[in-house]
Amino acid sequence: MTAERDSTVSLIEALSSRLRSVIDATADSSSDDEHDPEGTTLAVERGQLVAQLDRSRVRLDELDAAFGRLDHGTYGRCERCGGPIGPERLDALPAARLCISCAARDSARRW
Ligand SMILES: [Zn+2]
Repeated sequence: MTAERDSTVSLIEALSSRLRSVIDATADSSSDDEHDPEGTTLAVERGQLVAQLDRSRVRLDELDAAFGRLDHGTYGRCERCGGPIGPERLDALPAARLCISCAARDSARRW
């Protein structure tokens, strides 16, 4: 899980610096015709980067919360029913908060 957190942190850094360069490029091209195709491409990429950054930050929060549960000795325990979360599920989703049956009942939540 530490490796997953590290790669999430590097991903956020990479996305942030890419987003900064896209914003700079958008600022540079703002004097041009606003209908120029490059500006549109940049706007689309900017939107995608922002969405990806949001998802990565949520993921990092979930991972940090999982580390907090490790510290408190509640890691691997379902937050809803208090039962154990299966090892297969923790392998697939290290930051899982719910056991598989609670998660199935609450399919709107990914974790
Ligand atoms: Zn449960």
